[in-house]
Amino acid sequence: MAEQFDVVVIGAGPAGYHAAIRAAQLGLKTACIDAALGKDGKPALGGTCLRVGCIPSKALLDSSRQYWNMGHIFDQHGISFNDAKIDVSKMVGRKDAIVKQFTGGIAQLFKANKVATYYGFGQLQAGNVVKVKQHDGSEVELKGTNVIIAAGSDSIELPFAKFDGNLIVDNVGALDFTEVPKRLAVIGAGVIGLELGSVWKRLGSEVVILEALPEFLAVADAEVAKVAAKEFKKQGLDIRLNAKVSKTEIKGNEVIVSYTDAEGDKTLTVDKLLVAVGRRAASKGLLAEGTGVQLNERGQIVVDDHCHTGVDGVWAVGDCVRGPMLAHKGFEEGVAVAELIAGLPGHVNFDTIPWVIYTEPELAWVGKTEAQLKAEGIPYKAGSFPFAANGRAVAMVEPAGFVKVLAHAETDRVLGMHLVGANVSELVHEGVLTMEFSGSSDDLARICHAHPSLSEAVHDAAMAVTKRAIHKVN
Ligand SMILES: Cc1cc2nc3c(=O)[nH]c(=O)nc-3n(C[C@H](O)[C@H](O)[C@H](O)COP(=O)(O)OP(=O)(O)OC[C@H]3O[C@@H](n4cnc5c(N)ncnc54)[C@H](O)[C@@H]3O)c2cc1C
Repeated sequence: MAEQFDVVVIGAGPAGYHAAIRAAQLGLKTACIDAALGKDGKPALGGTCLRVGCIPSKALLDSSRQYWNMGHIFDQHGISFNDAKIDVSKMVGRKDAIVKQFTGGIAQLFKANKVATYYGFGQLQAGNVVKVKQHDGSEVELKGTNVIIAAGSDSIELPFAKFDGNLIVDNVGALDFTEVPKRLAVIGAGVIGLELGSVWKRLGSEVVILEALPEFLAVADAEVAKVAAKEFKKQGLDIRLNAKVSKTEIKGNEVIVSYTDAEGDKTLTVDKLLVAVGRRAASKGLLAEGTGVQLNERGQIVVDDHCHTGVDGVWAVGDCVRGPMLAHKGFEEGVAVAELIAGLPGHVNFDTIPWVIYTEPELAWVGKTEAQLKAEGIPYKAGSFPFAANGRAVAMVEPAGFVKVLAHAETDRVLGMHLVGANVSELVHEGVLTMEFSGSSDDLARICHAHPSLSEAVHDAAMAVTKRAIHKVN
């Protein structure tokens, strides 16, 4: 006999744990099932994000940045030292400790909120029953008046570059190298490839990133991508565009990567290969026959604008459905669905979801790019401001990059903000907030910003929309 719940959540990643905690807060009897195990072989909640994604990558990005700054920035501050050493196992150990702290934190939050937690693989059956195969081999059945599927995503594997967990890896392996690879190739110049490529480059690897597309970071504003490409080149990241990998071969402890670019066929011999060509919805084995839940051609669960699958009481959120594969998009969907189930007005505004790439400099944006506005025929004004003219950025030896504000030419409503530079992962929220409140560039320009601060660049960019920036010639 299946135990009855108001809400059964499959997956305890960002989307699932938000859904479960919010549902429990709203007084709904809630269960959450998660199949993942941590590095120690024990169940670890928090999904890709906490175990092998957002948090561990940022931990290593920060460690490697400290090291890079010692060799490249400290001198400008008048600080010198004789010898800098890297202890990779200590660095990775620090990352693991952070992961353990946060995955354990979710377990504590579940307990405090009385979310019944099941560790194992959940499969949705017809009639909103979830069959859970637990790690000890036993099976339980849970029936939910509502079931929220938050199964997340897995790395895409290339048929000619199969992961072996040692020489050819995905994000999981690249977060756990035991030493700095002398030569690292990365397939894919997307967010994960650039972030993890940066980590190992800063620690001393020769990094080559092979990207099949002809344009670098086509998803970002063209000027932002241009500045980023220039800065990455200065750092020695070798990004080769139009480079299509067709074969890999392991010989001893090396990987030989064959690719074709505009000049013809080439090979590259490396010590490690990171495949970072994207992620796909983790829908394998998730649905038994007859549930009525549909998958699209990409294996994503089909949902409407409110994350409903069309099957009574069955919802899906996060990376396993359409939309950007971002943790905070999953957070918002999880909360919105829990609130809709409780009869509240849950909603996610896709127009104001921020994007961040945590390289050096960081890239961040919200809303439409200039190219999108042009393509859609929307009249706009642009104002930008360089960090090279911002006192705080220069004092920090972080003069690269700029802030750009895009506003409607007639109404002045902010339509997008695009940033590249120091700490723009934080600054982008000025754009998110302004857009969420339907604000104008004039609103932003009239808000007092502390001096000296990086956020003054946002202020100046907003003022530049109407050619009244004080700290640059308009
Ligand atoms: C290296 C890397 C860096 C990233 N950095 C960022 C970043 O900085 N910012 C950002 O916003 N995003 C980042 N992401 C993306 C982010 O991790 C994902 O968007 C986010 O984790 C998706 O959340 P989710 O809850 O939908 O799925 P997931 O986090 O994938 O969680 C799904 C969970 O469900 C479990 N599960 C799946 N199927 C079942 C089943 N049938 N039964 C039981 N359990 C199941 C899985 O084991 C997993 O624990 C990064 C990703 C990677 C790989």
